[in-house]
Amino acid sequence: MNHVLPHASSASDSPSKIAVITGGSRGIGAATAKLAAAQGYAVCISYRRHDAAAEQVCQTIRAAGGVCLAVRADVSSEADVIDLFDRCTEAFGTPTALVNNAGILETQMPLAQMSVERLQRILAVNVIGAFLCAREAVRRMPLSVGGKGGAIVNVSSRASCLGSPGEYVDYAASKGAIDTLTIGLSREVAADGVRVNAVRPGVIHTDIHAAGGEPDRVERVKTGIPMQRGGAAEEVAQAILWLLSDAASYTTGSFIDVAGGR
Ligand code: NAP
Repeated sequence: MNHVLPHASSASDSPSKIAVITGGSRGIGAATAKLAAAQGYAVCISYRRHDAAAEQVCQTIRAAGGVCLAVRADVSSEADVIDLFDRCTEAFGTPTALVNNAGILETQMPLAQMSVERLQRILAVNVIGAFLCAREAVRRMPLSVGGKGGAIVNVSSRASCLGSPGEYVDYAASKGAIDTLTIGLSREVAADGVRVNAVRPGVIHTDIHAAGGEPDRVERVKTGIPMQRGGAAEEVAQAILWLLSDAASYTTGSFIDVAGGR
């Protein structure tokens, strides 16, 4: 299902800053979409299931005078990802920014108990999904293909460094792949007007912990965080928007840990 809100721009009235934000219906993606819109981006959010949540993000952006398009698109589906980028381009013009944010985790358990189906689901969304979105971005953004250049921010996790033993090493390893994607792709496209960076959030207050079977996980682990608290999605969004911005014009292949010192 696709929602083009009444105030969305048309391609003939193309804004200069156009962001595709995957998983923009909730959590870090929703906070990033709202901040991006407030900073002048035309925003195209994707989501997988929660139509009402995506619609609410777009309505909030519209109420503040921004423009937003919400596209139901599963990042692990190649056809959906191509459709997402095509619809964004049709509505606003060629994207200048991608926030590769959509990601999942599943119930906490040691590796010994993980099914192959679970491993495939985690890797399909967190790794293949991020690769497909990055691929569509670098098929469109580079100066050499007629794009305006741009920036990609991958949403990794501190888990890529910590490994998440006993909870979700599958998820942590998927974020390790995102870190390597960031390094490799940043060097592939550095001379073609596209920067690629990542943020590594720590423990952030969002719904994702409920998916792991522990909605109050932040409260349990916060005493192990040097700053003694979980982070807010808005604090991660600030780092993402800085990496997208011209203020980060000489920054590529870099990582910002937004993790309270963890
Ligand atoms: P969240 O609150 O669970 O939101 C996840 C978002 O991703 C939702 O918008 C969801 O859409 C979307 N999504 C899930 N699977 C998708 C798919 N296959 N295709 C398209 N969209 C999909 O998660 P979050 O905590 O904001 O996490 C966002 C990113 O930050 C993830 O990559 C996560 O790994 C990373 N991160 C989070 C934390 C943390 O503590 N929260 C820490 C480190 C890293 P629906 O609403 O339709 O389900």
